[in-house]
Amino acid sequence: MSDRYAVFGNPIEHSLSPGIHQDFAEQTQQDIEYVRQLVSLDGFDKAAGKFFAAGGCGLNITVPFKAEAYGFAAQLSKRARQAGAVNTLAVDSSGVVRGDNTDGVGLLRDLTGNLQWPLQGRRVLLLGAGGAARGVMAPLLEAGPHGLTVANRTVEKARQLALAFQALGPVSALGYDELAGRQFDLVINATSAGLAGSMPELPQGLLAEDACAYDMVYGARPTTFMQWAADTAGAEVADGLGMLVEQAAESFFIWRGVMPLTKPVITRIRQSLSPD
Ligand code: NDP
Repeated sequence: MSDRYAVFGNPIEHSLSPGIHQDFAEQTQQDIEYVRQLVSLDGFDKAAGKFFAAGGCGLNITVPFKAEAYGFAAQLSKRARQAGAVNTLAVDSSGVVRGDNTDGVGLLRDLTGNLQWPLQGRRVLLLGAGGAARGVMAPLLEAGPHGLTVANRTVEKARQLALAFQALGPVSALGYDELAGRQFDLVINATSAGLAGSMPELPQGLLAEDACAYDMVYGARPTTFMQWAADTAGAEVADGLGMLVEQAAESFFIWRGVMPLTKPVITRIRQSLSPD
């Protein structure tokens, strides 16, 4: 029987993870089965317990269960502790379920590897202070930016995030209305506004010459934020598909001990998302 994996979420039907892991498995000749599982909002612990009791080998966790997965894991990696959330659960040979978070490394590999966007010495602005923003704070600061500014609609959440990570590098927090007159080399949109086709209101002149703009949201077309960055400043833009595939590759590595190639998978999904 194939080793069994799944992604737990609610909603879950649009998750691309099964296709991504199937690609990885074929590429690396691993015998796995990977399915989507819709979990009721109050049913995470029960569903995860049942999955592992029945011999399941690993789970990916998506919205809204990353905090529950953090509580469920018997052991946590440093990345998971820093993120305060778990997106990958793996059972080890002695049956212990270990929680990790691969979102941060996924973003960093997409930015610096696939896109070749430098971070060192750059003025970086992170929009949003939710779970995704928290998960990327540590790796962004460890990449040595000139400074990392977090801006959020609810300013207090940005302040809490900056405070939590201040030991790792130069980090500050602002409201969107305080961004006027400031300039950044890289702006990362970690808000969920793009899912509804909108974006935070940002001032003119925010993007420096040669700036890059990254939206964690992805889809068939450029997001509102990507269009804004390209139109107002001619910025180089990217969506979060690369991050999705890179975080999946790190999960696959945790489970199977082999690192798959990501570029062919990103290319395949990009083509399948194409509106034409
Ligand atoms: P959360 O719900 O934890 O946080 C949402 C964030 O978006 C908050 O900062 C919230 O601000 C802000 N926000 C929501 N709507 C608006 C709006 N209209 N204007 C301004 N700010 C807004 O979500 P996550 O952090 O988990 O996820 C954020 C996004 O990142 C999602 O779209 C998700 O799909 C994407 N993502 C992509 C990944 C990938 O691999 N590509 C991985 C993980 C996430 P406030 O605090 O004020 O409410």
